[in-house]
Amino acid sequence: MPQRLPNLHINADRMWTDIHETAKFGGTPKGGVRRLTLSEEDRQVRDWFRKACEAAGCEVHVDALGSMFALRPGKDKTKLPVGIGSHLDTQPTGGKFDGVLGVLAGLEVLRTLNDAGIETDAPICLVNWTNEEGSRYAPAMMASGAYAGDFTVEDILARKDADGITVGAALDAIGYRGPEPVGKRRLGAFVELHIEQGPILEREQKTIGVVERGQGILWYDGRIVGMERHASTPMEYRQDALAALAEIVLAIETIAKSHAPNAVATIGEAVIAAPSRNVVPGDIAFTMDVRSPDGAIMTALDAEIRSAIMDIASRRRVEIAFDNAWRKPPTIFDASVVGAVEQATAALGYSNRRITSGAGHDACNVNAVMPTAMIFVPCKDGLSHNELEDATKDDCAAGANVLLHTTLALAGVVG
Ligand SMILES: [Zn+2]
Repeated sequence: MPQRLPNLHINADRMWTDIHETAKFGGTPKGGVRRLTLSEEDRQVRDWFRKACEAAGCEVHVDALGSMFALRPGKDKTKLPVGIGSHLDTQPTGGKFDGVLGVLAGLEVLRTLNDAGIETDAPICLVNWTNEEGSRYAPAMMASGAYAGDFTVEDILARKDADGITVGAALDAIGYRGPEPVGKRRLGAFVELHIEQGPILEREQKTIGVVERGQGILWYDGRIVGMERHASTPMEYRQDALAALAEIVLAIETIAKSHAPNAVATIGEAVIAAPSRNVVPGDIAFTMDVRSPDGAIMTALDAEIRSAIMDIASRRRVEIAFDNAWRKPPTIFDASVVGAVEQATAALGYSNRRITSGAGHDACNVNAVMPTAMIFVPCKDGLSHNELEDATKDDCAAGANVLLHTTLALAGVVG
């Protein structure tokens, strides 16, 4: 039986049909998807997913935060299941592939094993994590975070959306507050297939990214207080908060470049307190997002950015408050699971490279409690969180085939 395994491939047409079928739940006129977590559209895709898993012979369990676990039995009941999957929620202007590919490729893996009559030693558990995107409820990746023990379930259930609806009420409204305690369904490993959401694979014409790390993230809240003055004030008398911010923008660009390619730094929000055409800005709030796959570089970035800000504050005679709002250390995926992904990719003959995930993923959260890795496939122009997000059928199928053979390697084949 095992000799035919190298030739085992998923059914690309069937998976492609599923991707377009599920894109109808929340489909937008521009060809994207708007499927906010725990919305009516989310209920529709969840119902579809549950039915498809049951038709594939799986039992579907739902935990207290709505995460779904479809279980395909293995021969050895004492073994923990091999987890695969991703998320079915999208951004308000999301695409057809972000998250969805990882779940539907997982479904395709289960169907392929059924078609081939293959029994694995360990069970396989296909997971749909609740609220990966974080656009309706903060934080992003909340259910996998709670699963890994980063948040309590009570804390997450009480979070509110912009209309004041709690996570608990939203789960009840769509019938997906499950009986299973969060974090109780243990898995032996977890593998998530995802589009890259960056330009590297496409630019280097590689089919598969073997993800070995996830970037660490530093978030800061900053405020610059100078002095509002008449726009006729001579330049040397000013304490211009916006000019100070301009220097900070350029300083962090230089600092991040000095650690290239292992650092990026972004000021994505800046608000002048009382903007006026003929007033020198005196009060500006801003945020900063700094990322690196290397913990030591994160520490260096923090020190260099703080020192640059102190220098700018004193030269420009402004006060700058700069507080760390969040620090997530880099994710270092499990060497043996990363190795399994790499071997499956090589056996299938796909071009590949090792890669770091720039974005956060459920896999980054659960890596803390089980051996985990990710598989990336290219997406067009590196574009994601956009209705024009696109990936080719061949690349998606390649990713699903790598997921299939990684799963087989981790679960072990009986016959
Ligand atoms: Zn995603």
